[in-house]
Amino acid sequence: MEMPLITFLLPAYNEGENIHELYEQLVSETKDLYYSFEYLFIDDGSTDDTLDKIKYLAFYSDDVRYVSFSRNFGKEAAMYAGLKHAKGEAVIIMDTDLQHPSHLIPSLIKGYEAGYHQVIAKRNRKGESRCSQFFTRSFYQIMNKWSDVALQNGEGDFRLLSRKAVNALLSLSEGNRFSKGLYSWIGLSQTTVTYENVLRENGKSKWKFSSLLSYALDGMLSFNTKPLRLCCYLGLITILMSFIYIFITFLSIIRNGVEVPGYFTTISAVLFLGGVQLFCLGIIGEYIGRIYNETKKRPHYILEESNTTDPNVEVREIIPPHRSWDLSEKQGKEKVTS
Ligand code: UDP
Ligand code: MG
Repeated sequence: MEMPLITFLLPAYNEGENIHELYEQLVSETKDLYYSFEYLFIDDGSTDDTLDKIKYLAFYSDDVRYVSFSRNFGKEAAMYAGLKHAKGEAVIIMDTDLQHPSHLIPSLIKGYEAGYHQVIAKRNRKGESRCSQFFTRSFYQIMNKWSDVALQNGEGDFRLLSRKAVNALLSLSEGNRFSKGLYSWIGLSQTTVTYENVLRENGKSKWKFSSLLSYALDGMLSFNTKPLRLCCYLGLITILMSFIYIFITFLSIIRNGVEVPGYFTTISAVLFLGGVQLFCLGIIGEYIGRIYNETKKRPHYILEESNTTDPNVEVREIIPPHRSWDLSEKQGKEKVTS
């Protein structure tokens, strides 16, 4: 019987110093597991010898495959390409900078065997500077308050995804990808495995403060349109205040007469019209928000399981072969060989 295939999705951008070490670690970590493995490297337009190192591995072993970008497109693009090219019934996404400890692989696979669609490796933030810890904590707080998806601090891209989760992610074809949000958006059963934070040894992190900031903005903007609603509220508040101003000033004019001619009418008009304009902008914003959500063309729902099929939808469900095999073994039947 053919062993079920698991894909390692390995995005690499200028990681020449780490490729071989990572491959060795993965091979030694997986050699006793009842699976076959595929090592799918995504070279994200590296300018060092990353691609050469990958090609060297691919030359000597059939289970190494690679995709190489024409230039640097970013890790999100690399992961999307990896999910598209992965052949495995499950995919393990892992950084190639050795910060994701390979000794977790067996636990991730155990989670998968227990039937979870997402097995998440969660890190603590040990060894990170206070400042960066403060910023990440604030980011998660704001994100969870403002957006429609829940995010967990420390849960990144290091995770195992079942074929169903991979297909769900691929069905989200939006351009501006914010994976952390997407993993949470698709739902499906998940479990976590925790590990100690590992600091980078070779090469350096590709994150600068500015890119982290724009990443955070991306995250907030791709999962909510609430900032647009702010206009509506501001407009309403301004209109209300202008009414109060008009009312109070009008009373004082009746009592004391006009002090500066024309002042009252000008200020009232400016305040009131300003409020109305803001409010109208808010209404337009609501429509833009809706258009924004529609253009992402996200599926309306993701199925976890069902015992019926929609005749109008082509079903591409994959039942992991080893699980049906596990079942037959439990029932004391013969292993099916093919
Ligand atoms: N990476 C990538 N494209 C990029 C930047 C990073 O494919 O434009 C890869 C990188 O090679 C590594 C992973 O994404 O395998 C995480 O990158 P990094 O270590 O810079 O991020 P950090 O661990 O600091 O979050
Ligand atoms: Mg890293």
